[in-house]
Amino acid sequence: MEHIIIPLFQPGTVAPPTRLQRLGDAMRRHRGLIVGVQWAVVVFYLALVSIPAFLPLPPADGRMLENLTLFAQFIFWGVWWPFVIVSVMAVGRAWCGLFCPEGTLTELASRFGLGRAVPRWIKWGGWPLAAFVLTTVYGQLVSVYEYPKAVLLILGGSTVAALAVGLVYGKGTRVWCRHLCPVSGVFGLLARLAPLHFSVNRDNWNRAPENTRQAVQCAPLIDIRRMTGASQCHMCGRCSSHRDAVKLTARLPGREIAELPANDAKAWEARLLVFGMIGVAVGAFQWSASPWFVAIKQKIAGWLVDHDVFWLLQDNAPWWLLTHYPESSDVFTWLDGLLILAYIATTALLVGSWAWTWLRVAGALLPGRARDNAHWLAYSLVPLGGVGVFLGLSAMTVSHLSAEGLSLPWLPQIRAALLGSAALWSMGLALGMMRHTPSIPRRLMAASAVTIAVAGVITPWLFLFFLW
Ligand code: SF4
Repeated sequence: MEHIIIPLFQPGTVAPPTRLQRLGDAMRRHRGLIVGVQWAVVVFYLALVSIPAFLPLPPADGRMLENLTLFAQFIFWGVWWPFVIVSVMAVGRAWCGLFCPEGTLTELASRFGLGRAVPRWIKWGGWPLAAFVLTTVYGQLVSVYEYPKAVLLILGGSTVAALAVGLVYGKGTRVWCRHLCPVSGVFGLLARLAPLHFSVNRDNWNRAPENTRQAVQCAPLIDIRRMTGASQCHMCGRCSSHRDAVKLTARLPGREIAELPANDAKAWEARLLVFGMIGVAVGAFQWSASPWFVAIKQKIAGWLVDHDVFWLLQDNAPWWLLTHYPESSDVFTWLDGLLILAYIATTALLVGSWAWTWLRVAGALLPGRARDNAHWLAYSLVPLGGVGVFLGLSAMTVSHLSAEGLSLPWLPQIRAALLGSAALWSMGLALGMMRHTPSIPRRLMAASAVTIAVAGVITPWLFLFFLW
């Protein structure tokens, strides 16, 4: 029997827009609604950041529904941050483009500011790593998860910096978000996993009729025509259907990484992932639960007392340098501060160097330069980095809910499942990235080296959640 194939669309006809495309276009059309939501978030955020800092500390038996400070803590660290991480992995950086209060404020400020060109020092590729490490470590020293004055200092300070950058640089753009925001680099890595992105059809772009060519102002300063991934896109929708070339599109989760050309890998992004998002983050989440930290501290404190060195045991540092809340019996000595720094630095170097070494081994087994291959293969660890940060932040969610009397008996299983899935996803991505390597034995040996790197990344989380 002869089959007749009826083409769905004749050449030259235009396919009807998909639902996603229509969603992207709706975001472009309903810009006013988005701006309204952004300003509501700004007001909510400013209230939660500033008001608790001027209230007395909550009582030991306080409840979050009765105490604004505890409520703000839960919203920031128990809901906001962990689920922003999840959202970036799920829908790209829509958080940045649709909700982030700092993005809204810096863009507004830059509309009325000096409009200066972005200088070279701001474009330095190491800022995302430096800013992430500094804010993470400083947050631990001043106990940002527990005290509202520390929240005002760190989050409020970041907002003031975003405003200042907006007032000086760019015109209606987000120079702060693109180059300096402490979480922009992390979000840029995580967005590569997202199953949604704005794709650009270069042929349609070039063929677009003159009357559709009016430029779109992309706030995070993306060259939209050449955009090939979701890393920098804030998913604001302003360019949806521009030149009939930009469409909100679905893709397989992680496909952008599996198909990442080796020469698109950036050394600073790889360092941010391996030493910052994986190394520094696990050290920061781990030190307060670590029996090793306590043992080392007791040993050093004993030695200091035996040798009459008491200044390191004093707790006279101001609250903005080291945690200092005598009314809550929570004060850090200088020794505490130094040991926190040493613990985070050592963990970051041990875990990061372990992963880096095995990525180098894997890179040496593939064609090309070992170092460049290692930078490229590092992107396969993005799922582990993202899940690690989510699990670390969600520990705050868990402790807040426990304090409210909610028990979570299935928590260990969920944590194990998330870590296991992230590890498998990372290994799968590495295998996908290496699929064009002609030699199968070399590919397998390189995959084994990545597996050893993955094992080293998971181990500190196993200690934190299951062994201590
Ligand atoms: S490319 Fe720019 S304008 Fe287009 S959606 Fe992304 S952030 Fe918005």
